[in-house]
Amino acid sequence: MIQGFGVKTRQRTVGVKVGSVQVGGGAPIVVQSMTNTDTADVEATVRQVAALARAGSELVRITVDRDESAAAVPHIRDRLARMRVEVPLVGDFHYIGHKLLADHPACAEALDKYRINPGNVGFKDKKDRQFAMIVEKAIEHGKAVRIGANWGSLDQELLTHLMDENAKSAAPLEARAVMHEAMVQSCVLSARRAEEIGLAKDRIILSAKVSAVQDLISVYRMLALRADYALHLGLTEAGMGSKGIVASSAALGVVLQDGIGDTVRVSLTPEPNGDRTLEVKVAQEILQTMGIRTFVPLVAACPGCGRTTSTLFQELAQDIQGFIHASMPEWKTRYPGVEALNVAVMGCIVNGPGESKHADIGISLPGTGENPAAPVFVDGHKVTTLRGPTVAADFKAMVIDYIEK
Ligand code: SF4
Repeated sequence: MIQGFGVKTRQRTVGVKVGSVQVGGGAPIVVQSMTNTDTADVEATVRQVAALARAGSELVRITVDRDESAAAVPHIRDRLARMRVEVPLVGDFHYIGHKLLADHPACAEALDKYRINPGNVGFKDKKDRQFAMIVEKAIEHGKAVRIGANWGSLDQELLTHLMDENAKSAAPLEARAVMHEAMVQSCVLSARRAEEIGLAKDRIILSAKVSAVQDLISVYRMLALRADYALHLGLTEAGMGSKGIVASSAALGVVLQDGIGDTVRVSLTPEPNGDRTLEVKVAQEILQTMGIRTFVPLVAACPGCGRTTSTLFQELAQDIQGFIHASMPEWKTRYPGVEALNVAVMGCIVNGPGESKHADIGISLPGTGENPAAPVFVDGHKVTTLRGPTVAADFKAMVIDYIEK
């Protein structure tokens, strides 16, 4: 696979250690996710953190919104350690983070990073002090901090000030541009304030999340120009189903292509009781399809058309994909580098042989007929033609053989 071909050189940021995981400073882009359980429910939260970590989430954020959830955090940490789930935990604090961290030192210690939203860390005269209290706790416990501005809770004082300034300007900007500026300033000024308080730059990560694709692209481009803090990238409130996946892919794709972003989260709205790990899978697939990181072998398959009157190629593509995913936990340890494998399962000879030649191993099934004759290509060369009803099983065996060799 051509790694990141076309992606601009990554913007150099200051690396931040979050537990054992480095974010920025040239480290591979980190995939992260967030639980939606009540953190006070230790069992449910441990289950979900473990599922997210096993799906490939390299950091997991949990809500810390009240005393009960803060008190649960060290127990969650202990339970995960006993299960040998080593993923760093990030605490998401709003409004009363300063109080929760002060009242629950075991929580402050158990977390690897604190997320602060500068828009709701406090109000007016209390704001600076409460922000400082969280930063001081991070310094005391040696933790990283993400200063995460959010479109939905933008610092209203700052926005009002910038709107007033803009109104007086000889060449006023559009209101949207002023909001972008407010997002960026909210992050950067807060980060500078944290440094003044004594937090080292290699403990600070920034994010400025919005829910519209074009806004996100503008804001992150501005943010990357203004500072070299490590950047957490994500489209907030991306939405449900295909809308959320498409919007996140479009936004993150453009920003990542610019070389911006050190850690990503895809914020999907799950179906009620739906699979939370989908956001991890989508984040991985965005990074992998862009050639930035590899996580699991990719199966390229054509969409099928009027030439595919049999369903054989769809069945084989599905079968191979399922088989690869199920085998990955074992393959990862037995065959390091297997995640970069490309497999092609194509529906007919129009594009089949060509696409198969570009893959590490590919098969081109005939579009029709009960007794297929399917050429197989390995490393760009045709090696055999599989025939008859055992084509699927024979091709699977060839994939395993290829990996083992
Ligand atoms: Fe149709 Fe063949 Fe193209 Fe697949 S490869 S979409 S079956 S023409």
